[in-house]
Amino acid sequence: MLTKGVQYKPLDWWPVFSSLIAPQGQSEDSSDEGGASGDTEMDFLRSLFSRTLGLSPGEKVLDELTLDGVARYIKSGKCKSIICMVGAGISTSAGIPDFRSPGTGLYANLQKYNLPHPEAIFQIDYFKKHPEPFFALARELYPGQFKPTVCHYFMKLLKDKGLLQRCYSQNIDTMERVAGLEGGDLIEAHGTFHTSHCVSFLCRKEFSMDWMKDKIFSEDIPKCDSCGNLVKPDIVFFGENLPARFFTSMQTDFPRCDLLIIMGTSLQVQPFASLVSKVSNSCPRLLINMEKTGQSEFGMGLFGFGGGMDFDSDKAYRDVAHISSCDDGCMALAGLLGWKAELEEMVKREHGLIDSKDSKKTEKEAKQSAESTGVDSGK
Ligand SMILES: [Zn+2]
Repeated sequence: MLTKGVQYKPLDWWPVFSSLIAPQGQSEDSSDEGGASGDTEMDFLRSLFSRTLGLSPGEKVLDELTLDGVARYIKSGKCKSIICMVGAGISTSAGIPDFRSPGTGLYANLQKYNLPHPEAIFQIDYFKKHPEPFFALARELYPGQFKPTVCHYFMKLLKDKGLLQRCYSQNIDTMERVAGLEGGDLIEAHGTFHTSHCVSFLCRKEFSMDWMKDKIFSEDIPKCDSCGNLVKPDIVFFGENLPARFFTSMQTDFPRCDLLIIMGTSLQVQPFASLVSKVSNSCPRLLINMEKTGQSEFGMGLFGFGGGMDFDSDKAYRDVAHISSCDDGCMALAGLLGWKAELEEMVKREHGLIDSKDSKKTEKEAKQSAESTGVDSGK
């Protein structure tokens, strides 16, 4: 932009830019200096750089770094656009184990497959040659019931109130969708079991979650009925790219975010973890988790970029840690917002619907199996 040979008169563009980059009230002072001096230009560059690099101090938006402070901010009407970033911790109360965590005993049962190393089960090259261990693990971990948690329904409530800009999830369990978030509300950063695709680049035929579930439980290796190639759930394996939407949405979503709510994630998987630094310097960030996390753990602090979370230092001004389960934290926030009864009602109603669907399914299956047994015994 500042190319040599082009005539820039600093004062022509200064008021425009300074209104964008300088704290309120300073822009007039600066232009009153009058001189098209190098100082002004340097100030501009300094501001531009510090803003771009996140070095300038952000505005303090919350009156208090607590859940109450966050609730008051939401109620003030100034907070119009909320992004939720969620991880495995929001689904544990639904009985869904963390699919990828080594050390949870999950990998122990896989010894018979002679994996070169535990993570191989999620490596795309290994999977294409040896899909059996992955599908065995999927069978073992497949949730018996898809019943979203209070936390999932809290996000649905944010959507209903017109406050949810987007939910960025690391989870592949489709619970956000079951709770009522739609494709457009969601970035499933690590993919999803919701759909599956043929691995052949020439074919890429799509298969449904029910189709994949049948295959997983029939112990057949899922094969494409068009071309005979392997079919893989659309979860992101090691060695695969994140969905393109993750990167495109990130660019537009985070700069206009008014509040970032981070729930049930230890912020250790990149590039997901680095999203917390994509919001503006003034955007408050609320962590609801069993422990504090994200405090300059991903190297941002090293460069002084200040991208990490700061809950406790003297300089803390926007990050709030609410240490609790995600469900308790969401219910507490709902209470402060005056939405508690509404959230409880939603959870009760939706869980009731899921239960009645499940029992109908079980009846149907029992009837089918009784019929088939009847046919068999009739022979
Ligand atoms: Zn195919």
